[in-house]
Amino acid sequence: MLNAKIVFDMRLFIALNFSERFLDALAETAQNLQKQAIYARPTQRENFHLTLAFLGEQENIAGSIAAIDACAATAFTLVTGHCGAFHQRNGDLWWLGLRRQANLLHMQESLRQQLLLQGYRMENRTFKPHLTLLREARMQPDFDLAAFNSSLKPLHERITSIHLMQSVRQAGKLCYLELYKREI
Ligand code: ATP
Ligand code: MG
Repeated sequence: MLNAKIVFDMRLFIALNFSERFLDALAETAQNLQKQAIYARPTQRENFHLTLAFLGEQENIAGSIAAIDACAATAFTLVTGHCGAFHQRNGDLWWLGLRRQANLLHMQESLRQQLLLQGYRMENRTFKPHLTLLREARMQPDFDLAAFNSSLKPLHERITSIHLMQSVRQAGKLCYLELYKREI
């Protein structure tokens, strides 16, 4: 007899999701940046989000919902900034950064504290809010980042909710499913 609990883990993260208009603008920015790349995997339009906390594989969602409900959060307007890259072995991850915003930083820190209270082990890394545009990217040798950044206009997005998300692969395609939403 197999004397083990069968556990179905879910890959979870907590994120801010966006309006159709903002998704369009992000997809356009990603497309323009991709034109400067030799190779890159752009984020699918429907997948753009801002990760507040990554929970990884979890077997239930109760603790994360409690943390989302308990965290101190108020609605605010997110404003985009410049592009940059995190260097990775399999090619760089290019992102669109955000203007520094006290509301966002306080919300993320409060959420982190609430997750710790719920028993989640959170990494102690500084929060670097970013919107992923390209993965595994290799840029053209003459790519001029300063010129690209000076061509960008700030994009505004009103944030009024926080979402618990599940990351799944469906027929090889990365999908994020919304499991819970809190209005703020
Ligand atoms: P892929 O892994 O296929 O490139 P992805 O990174 O978007 O796609 P997930 O790995 O499921 O998909 O991650 C979901 C979200 O959590 C993404 O925003 C991702 O950047 C973030 N994330 C993933 N791993 C970590 C981690 N170790 N620390 C912080 N954030 C993470
Ligand atoms: Mg990942």
